[in-house]
Amino acid sequence: MSAIKIGIVGFGKIARDQHLPALNTNPAYELVAVASPSSTSDSLPHFASMTAMLESMPEIDAVALCVPPTVRYSLASEALARGKHVLLEKPPGATLAEVYELERQALEAGRTLFASWHSRHAPAVEPAREWLQGRRIVGVDIEWKEDVCVWHPGQDWIWQPGGMGVFDPGINALSIATAILDDAFFFREGVLAVPDNRHSPIAADLSFASAGGYPVNAAFDFRQKGPQSWDIRVETEEGTLMLSKGGSQLFVDGTLQFEAPEQEYPGLYRHFAELIESGRHDVDVSPLRHVSDAFLLGRRVIVDPFHWEAD
Ligand code: NAP
Repeated sequence: MSAIKIGIVGFGKIARDQHLPALNTNPAYELVAVASPSSTSDSLPHFASMTAMLESMPEIDAVALCVPPTVRYSLASEALARGKHVLLEKPPGATLAEVYELERQALEAGRTLFASWHSRHAPAVEPAREWLQGRRIVGVDIEWKEDVCVWHPGQDWIWQPGGMGVFDPGINALSIATAILDDAFFFREGVLAVPDNRHSPIAADLSFASAGGYPVNAAFDFRQKGPQSWDIRVETEEGTLMLSKGGSQLFVDGTLQFEAPEQEYPGLYRHFAELIESGRHDVDVSPLRHVSDAFLLGRRVIVDPFHWEAD
């Protein structure tokens, strides 16, 4: 198979930090252009819009949409209509309805749609899923706490409706939980802390109940200073599993069982190439469904205003 000609749409933080190096080191792809309203690349042709890029370079086979979620649907829909394969950064859309409709359009167009969840490609996630097979779970605790000023510097879109606030990283934890737990789980109650001057939550305390009868609790916080926490603890009758550092370390009863360097985006792009080659798609909305339920059922409290550190 010849290399997949791919264009990046939205040349911001994640495109530069992760998509660019992952694509440049994978021979299955030829990265040919970027489209972004103002951010440009030193080494690649730049277009101010995806439409301009696809019209100038009809040879492009696929696009990676690295834009904020509220603009993802219209870009994905246009790319599919133009016969392109589409990789959606997470979250795959601003609403579930958008993603279901994109899936229908992809099937109709006969093109691959990949709703990517980068955290699922963290190296210890699959070993964790395997370890949990057949074990009786007693409870799950998720702690996903990071400093928004470090990971989303100046990104005001994250505080807008549809930007999801702390659920932008929190959904990564939910993408792992939904991958490693066999049981379905359902949102029951929770508190979303919304800064007085913003629209989206800066923190959330969430309680889910699993179909297996055990609780799944999650604490998300964007105000974390010092060490960051990206941990999922699963207590079972036969020991306690801990996935740490976003899924790169696996501990059982405090003993390190598995650790590997971070390889999320290389894994994600390997999967996208396999999907394209085999004519399949991969659209799992379960993490977004939990976020949507939390916004539907969660209780909102107003907390101190949020200002970027440089403001
Ligand atoms: P970002 O730095 O704000 O970058 C978003 C980019 O999208 C901007 O560069 C912006 O372009 C571009 N854009 C906006 N509207 C566009 C449009 N209509 N057409 C083309 N480009 C458009 O945000 P980010 O951190 O990269 O996040 C983007 C997505 O990646 C989010 O869904 C986020 O959840 C996900 N993600 C982020 C991280 C992270 O650590 N930051 C990690 C994993 C996944 P201009 O700069 O040209 O104006």
